[in-house]
Amino acid sequence: MEPTAAIPKPAPSPTEHSQFFWDAAREHKLMIQRCDDCQRYIHWPQLLCPFCQSERLSPAEMSGKGSVYSFCIVNHVFHPAFAVPYSLVLVELDEQPGLRMLTNIVDCPNDAIRIGMAVEVTFEDGDGYTLPQFRPAAAEVQG
Ligand SMILES: [Zn+2]
Repeated sequence: MEPTAAIPKPAPSPTEHSQFFWDAAREHKLMIQRCDDCQRYIHWPQLLCPFCQSERLSPAEMSGKGSVYSFCIVNHVFHPAFAVPYSLVLVELDEQPGLRMLTNIVDCPNDAIRIGMAVEVTFEDGDGYTLPQFRPAAAEVQG
């Protein structure tokens, strides 16, 4: 089903704690919150470190490299602005086991997505915001 042009995609609504993520995305950087005390990464942005309850959290720039942890292909229209089918993917970032982002895989046919495939961040500039997405890593495309 083709998207309905008259209905825009819903835009992100940054909060005081997630503003840095969206500001960085606009500069095509992937920034993730990191605990200044236990050094663990946290996603999505929170008030307290879920590991040590520290309030000392800071944005940290990521490599943008990761792998597909799990995925599904969405065939049912949940919102008329989104054309189906599309991928809904949990990417585990290389920096920390269990550090996962819900995202899409782009520049890749849906039937080529595999659990464990290496991916890298890419940025989709939208109307007033930029969305971090992932695509197959360069080595994956050649191989
Ligand atoms: Zn911590």
